[in-house]
Amino acid sequence: MTSPVPADIPTETGAPSRSPSKLDFDFLPAAVTSNPYFAAGGGLMILGGSLAILRKSVSSLASLAYRRMLVDLELRSSDKSYDWFLHWMSNYKKTSSRHLSVQTKFVQHPNGSISTGFTFVPGPGNHWLKYNGAWFYVKRERSERVHNSGIPMETITLTTLFKDKFLLASILDEARAMAMKLAEGKTVIFKSWGQDWRPFGQPRKKRLMQSVVLDEGVKESIVNDVKEFLQSGKWYHDRGIPYRRGYLLYGPPGSGKTSFIQALAGELDYNIAIMNISEPNLTDDRLAYLMNNIPERTILLLEDIDAAFNKREQNREQGYVAGVTFSGLLNAIDGVASADEILTFMTTNHPQKLDPALLRPGRIDYKVLIDNASDYQIKRMFLRFFPDAEDKADEFLAKLKQLELPYVSTAQLQGLFVQFKESPDVALQNIDILKQPHINN
Ligand code: ADP
Repeated sequence: MTSPVPADIPTETGAPSRSPSKLDFDFLPAAVTSNPYFAAGGGLMILGGSLAILRKSVSSLASLAYRRMLVDLELRSSDKSYDWFLHWMSNYKKTSSRHLSVQTKFVQHPNGSISTGFTFVPGPGNHWLKYNGAWFYVKRERSERVHNSGIPMETITLTTLFKDKFLLASILDEARAMAMKLAEGKTVIFKSWGQDWRPFGQPRKKRLMQSVVLDEGVKESIVNDVKEFLQSGKWYHDRGIPYRRGYLLYGPPGSGKTSFIQALAGELDYNIAIMNISEPNLTDDRLAYLMNNIPERTILLLEDIDAAFNKREQNREQGYVAGVTFSGLLNAIDGVASADEILTFMTTNHPQKLDPALLRPGRIDYKVLIDNASDYQIKRMFLRFFPDAEDKADEFLAKLKQLELPYVSTAQLQGLFVQFKESPDVALQNIDILKQPHINN
């Protein structure tokens, strides 16, 4: 029987020596090459198919080996560990980072001045690091997901050999310990950032309670109330009452409301999350989410609580309403639920402008006036700056009374004592500057 041979395909015998097919398949056994289907291209398909299968098997074997031998850990920018790790890696020596990003730090000093500094952190891209004898491949990338604030989310993926996976936990432990050390003895200020709370600047030195001079017994009574609340978790849980307490500090500007909250946070070893209710981008939903996701051991501070809603009225007149609604705020306060305690502090210079609905127990449980300086505070402030001039404190008070000022704020007194800190006598001689209108008033 003769094989069907296409006219232009030569057979083994008598084939023209210049046939490309013949030349290409010289290395194959004659039985194969003599097959006319093979020569016609079918063989090429089989060969191509086999190569594809081979390639696929190699790649599945590689991915199997990857899965079996390597381990990945993903850190998302929404998680605290992300910043801890970046900070740790920027301090770690055994890395091969060639792509660096700059992070600018703002440090606010107790006197209010700000200094800046830079740190280089691993930038987006690939990096290697060697830790305890094991290699880690570090990939930092921008994700396609975007925060509500419009900032792209980022991830860091750490890859290492499966056998070294326990080192991942120890890197994260080290990174966390480093971050804790940085914040030790300090107060972290959080501000809302899109959907999340983010540390604002570097942790600040704790403000000492002695540095805040309130009227006699005021500090002690607030501190005692807060401490009692913090010890009453079981009482609240047993009765099914949300474990939260709201405080309102009201009074004129420059009387020490914010300073006291900072000192309280320092005393309790808490941080502070500051929420600006009048921020135009803040919506009711975002407010509720943020209030339900306050970092642990953190006081929630709603500053100038009256301002938000006064602005709203002005906005309405202009036909523009944005931000949080009053009912949104009440719902957010009422809806806060957490297994841990929630300590909320609100401040206002104008308590009369507050809606009575906000002042109800459960929303505000403790109200206290933080007023302009009383005689007691004037003397105490003087002695804080000039501790050895006990005799001059009374003289200072008497001289101040002669000025017949309607009031003097503790911030004004601080201004005078800072300006003439060299001696109590110089401060006494210059007491008249308290007559000048104060910037806060
Ligand atoms: P408020 O929040 O009442 O407007 P702040 O706490 O912001 O006042 O105080 C403004 C400045 O004045 C701060 O630098 C603070 O140190 C000082 N100050 C005001 N009141 C007091 C006070 N009672 N004791 C100590 N310092 C005070």
